[in-house]
Amino acid sequence: MTVEFKLTEPLLERLGQARHVMVLTGAGMSAESGIPTFRDAQTGLWAKFKPEELATPEAFELNPARVWQWYEERRQQVARAQPHAGHRALVKMQRLVPSLSLITQNVDGLHQLAGSQDVCELHGNIHRSKCSVTHRPISREWLADSPHGPPHSPYVRHGLARPDVVWFGEVLPQEAVDTAMAAAARCTFCFSIGTTSLVHPAASLPLIALEHGSALVEINPSETPLSLQADQCFRGTASEVLTVIVSQLRDLKTNR
Ligand code: NAD
Repeated sequence: MTVEFKLTEPLLERLGQARHVMVLTGAGMSAESGIPTFRDAQTGLWAKFKPEELATPEAFELNPARVWQWYEERRQQVARAQPHAGHRALVKMQRLVPSLSLITQNVDGLHQLAGSQDVCELHGNIHRSKCSVTHRPISREWLADSPHGPPHSPYVRHGLARPDVVWFGEVLPQEAVDTAMAAAARCTFCFSIGTTSLVHPAASLPLIALEHGSALVEINPSETPLSLQADQCFRGTASEVLTVIVSQLRDLKTNR
């Protein structure tokens, strides 16, 4: 076990006694599955575009085919990806604690693929599509084979199919936000993993947890604005740190 990535004894004790754990994940959680964060995603054909110029309603209105193709490439990348040891460690953690809320900003569905239950998706899911006007879901069958541009919406003539993800400048799904806020207020132990902690409301969740007296642990190779407030920060990757923490927790629970 890498000592460097061990929870301190008092924090391990708090995790062992926690009635409710909240885990917030960002794009860094999926990095070891080969899905680049936005910052790393500017390669090849797309190097000349910033994600902020592609993942917006304005970009889609201006050039729907370009945005659709960019998402098509990302969809293919996600379809090839597999959960890593960190995703699997969170599945084990969910079985070891009385209650765990997993809140993700990722749109790739890797937590669900690993076996995590009741995942709350704040930014939607790249595998789904919806009507650009009515926002009603559009089935995969309707999309059939449309790699070059979005097909028309089945609902309104001037609508197009678009990814069911939250773009920059858009409002998050209210139900997911409510679920996440409630989890943040209720948890007694919070993990913030692979997120820059800059984009609200997701970035507010660990702060709400702290206000309600929760412990806070951050896992991120880089420092973030949250680091100073965390009880313990791990400067390692999601998989290397989570596997150690979950094995510490399992040992604690089996020795009780
Ligand atoms: P972000 O703001 O969440 O930043 C990524 C963070 O992950 C950085 O702080 C980085 O230091 C950290 N990180 C990198 N590798 C890591 C590792 N192996 N383990 C732990 N942490 C690691 O992400 P972003 O790229 O700016 O994306 C913004 C939003 O775009 C996301 O919140 C998400 O909604 C969407 N997005 C989703 C995916 C996905 O679903 N996989 C990928 C890219 C972007």
